[in-house]
Amino acid sequence: MTSSSFRDARTVPGGVGAQADFQTRAVHSGGAFASETGAVVTPIYATSTFASGNPHGFDYTRSGNPNFTNLEAILANLEGAEFATSFASGVAAITAVVSTLKSGDLVLAEENVYGCTFRLFDRVFAKFGVSVRYIDFTKSESFLQIEALKPALVWLESPTNPLLKIIDIEKAAAHCKAAGSTLLVDNTFASSFVQRPLELGADISLTSTTKYTNGHSDCLGGAVCTNDPKWADDMVFAQKALGLNPAPFDAWLITRGVKTLALRMQRHSDNALKVAEHLESFACVNWVRYPFLASHPQFELAKRQMRAGSGIITADLGLPLEKTRQFLERLQYFTLAESLGGVESLCCHPASMTHASVPRDVRERVGITDGTVRFSIGIEHADDLCRDLTRCYEEVTYAVGSHQST
Ligand SMILES: *Cc1c(COP(=O)(O)O)cnc(C)c1O
Repeated sequence: MTSSSFRDARTVPGGVGAQADFQTRAVHSGGAFASETGAVVTPIYATSTFASGNPHGFDYTRSGNPNFTNLEAILANLEGAEFATSFASGVAAITAVVSTLKSGDLVLAEENVYGCTFRLFDRVFAKFGVSVRYIDFTKSESFLQIEALKPALVWLESPTNPLLKIIDIEKAAAHCKAAGSTLLVDNTFASSFVQRPLELGADISLTSTTKYTNGHSDCLGGAVCTNDPKWADDMVFAQKALGLNPAPFDAWLITRGVKTLALRMQRHSDNALKVAEHLESFACVNWVRYPFLASHPQFELAKRQMRAGSGIITADLGLPLEKTRQFLERLQYFTLAESLGGVESLCCHPASMTHASVPRDVRERVGITDGTVRFSIGIEHADDLCRDLTRCYEEVTYAVGSHQST
């Protein structure tokens, strides 16, 4: 990671300055609205409304609450952003951004975007005349499409789900600047500890705080960070006009979770690298993809743009569909579940879960086979995770072998 220049969180008392490290700022930024009582932690403001004329100008929780303000100050500080707006979920944050578009606007999106983003464009915003063109941003000629089409918005994710493609954010930002397009990066898979899109030139960094930012799989949340006051105003407007606000309690949970983001991301990343190397040693495995493995097609770019590899691994275990499912179901420390980014390890079988509705030929064309599995590596001890994977792989491949020989 190149040396970064963070700004203060200006909007709220308790902001921690640019000289402090990420880890320190994650613990000490925010903390507003607690000083009158000496409470070390900002309390939960479970209130729908506020008396008019109060010193902070709160009026109604749909358009602001001390727990949102506090969380937003922390998230802005950690992203190195001027402004952050909090939402009820990642999808609510996406809705807020896309609601600023008008009929006839074009979005140029990475073809491997998150499934719910695709569904929202396809099933909801298409009805309002917003069209989307999907392209593969790992191909360098794709960037020329930005100047050719001059889209209102370029929508990237890096790393992508589930194939962990790494997209060159700095390069996309230069092309967007030339075309007058807004660049949005969905930073959910990386988190602000691993990657800061605004420092790489993006206009908007969007995060599902449900995942790594909160990190404990106990609530949903979303956030939009930007340095552009116009975008910040539009996000605050969308929060209240569309009713996309989080609950104060959920904002408080995320505020608690984010304090350990640096520690957790370091452990997630260390563990994931060990597990990825371990999986590469399995006999039938076709490929293992992890941004910080030298075998990753964009390894050099990943190292330039990310501080660590984050906690997601995708692999093709070289097993048929049924055996792949059996392998995942036998694991002791990996729950078969959607979502990612919590302290506990999860596994997922895209072909029968997240991408079950995608026709097989389309799925396979983008690289998701029956044997493709995705792991969200938690903060357990890496040796326990590796042992669990080895045991189940041996059980299942032994069964494959004995079945085939009879
Ligand atoms: C989960 C996720 C979202 C949606 O977030 P929710 O909090 O589930 O609404 C958006 N983008 C990515 C990359 C995600 O993983």
